[in-house]
Amino acid sequence: MDIKGKRIYDTMKKMNFIRLSTTEGEKSGAKVITDEIKAMGLEPVFEDFKVPCYEIVNVKLEITEPKYMLVEAKGYGYSGNAAKDGITADFAYVEAAEDIDLIDAEGKIVLVSNMGYEIYERLAKAKVAGFIAPSGGYFDDPKKTDLDERMLRKGHITYGQIPGVSIRMKDAVKILKTNPKKAKLTLEQKEEEGDSGNIIVEVKGTKHPDEVIVYTAHYDSVVFSKGMYDNASGSAILLELLRYFLKNPPLRTVRFIWCGSEERGLFGSKDYVKRHEEQLKDIKLCINVDLAGPIIGRDTAIVLAEDKLCHMIEYMYKEVGHPMGLRQDIYSSDCIPFADKGIPAVNFVRYGAPGAVSCHTRNDVLDVISPKTLENTARFVARFSERTVNAYMFPVERKIPDDLVEKIDKYLRKKQLKED
Ligand SMILES: [Zn+2]
Repeated sequence: MDIKGKRIYDTMKKMNFIRLSTTEGEKSGAKVITDEIKAMGLEPVFEDFKVPCYEIVNVKLEITEPKYMLVEAKGYGYSGNAAKDGITADFAYVEAAEDIDLIDAEGKIVLVSNMGYEIYERLAKAKVAGFIAPSGGYFDDPKKTDLDERMLRKGHITYGQIPGVSIRMKDAVKILKTNPKKAKLTLEQKEEEGDSGNIIVEVKGTKHPDEVIVYTAHYDSVVFSKGMYDNASGSAILLELLRYFLKNPPLRTVRFIWCGSEERGLFGSKDYVKRHEEQLKDIKLCINVDLAGPIIGRDTAIVLAEDKLCHMIEYMYKEVGHPMGLRQDIYSSDCIPFADKGIPAVNFVRYGAPGAVSCHTRNDVLDVISPKTLENTARFVARFSERTVNAYMFPVERKIPDDLVEKIDKYLRKKQLKED
């Protein structure tokens, strides 16, 4: 089988820079992929779309009483603005932000131990003036780590905007040791729109050209991260699969979509399903590759489809001798918008062992990834493809099991956003 890990690895090297949504880096990432496709003699389509983005203009967190302390802070995107000259308010540590923690929290700047949709909702109901969320580990070396830059999503903002910042865990502990009474939070940000896009190319099926299998991988990365594991790996594997299908013409049409702005909230795949609503009925399956390559890790298939597909993959990995984990579940990636439209999906992922990779940080680098592990995963995806793309009759039912539909709705926060 002509699938080469070295080629995948070399493509990743070309993408070894930060590819944050809507930035020049993301555009350069798209160019690497486009050039690779053109080198195969194909002409990809670039479908551009707008993505909401923000710019933090000014952020400052000060503990003002009893002891002055200026704290390194990053503004939460979309968390609004904290007046022009900042908000000065009483400080409270509200821990898990349960009702009992929040009894006296109204109008205060609160430090939480963690952040999430439910916590944010409770903070909004409690009418806090601002929030502070710790990030990273207490033992992080500030010289070797970046303070995470975070943002609220649409699902948060339905409860209203509360200006917020993230700070280092070490600083959170340091603040609490001073028994703080008052804090001042300054935050100014601009909300705007930026450009992103999907790169699309297909190889027509020789026997069933109207039956389509879609391959997806996002090529953007998060702030500070060169995103080799997440997800230059999947992007480069898709290019290798495209090469494979050019040499081995498929019976059904294979369509490759390199999605932009996944990390900002699946914008690429959402744009694709919205724009191509009419053609979605032809898509039989989505094969998504997001996270591959760690030397110490475990290949895993996450099946967002009927049970039978799980059994098929289980039999198959035993047959071909490819040890892997397997579960039937949703997966937070570009498969979701497709599955939300009733298109079953399989996610091929290689999870790094704890400590073996570092996702969403400056340490998401090539050192812990090898051509061999990339090749193993790509080969398995190709073999799986042969059995499905080239099946006599397409075997996977075009239906998402009810329990997974429920999980998708919850993931997309449909109830809260009232979208269909
Ligand atoms: Zn990813």
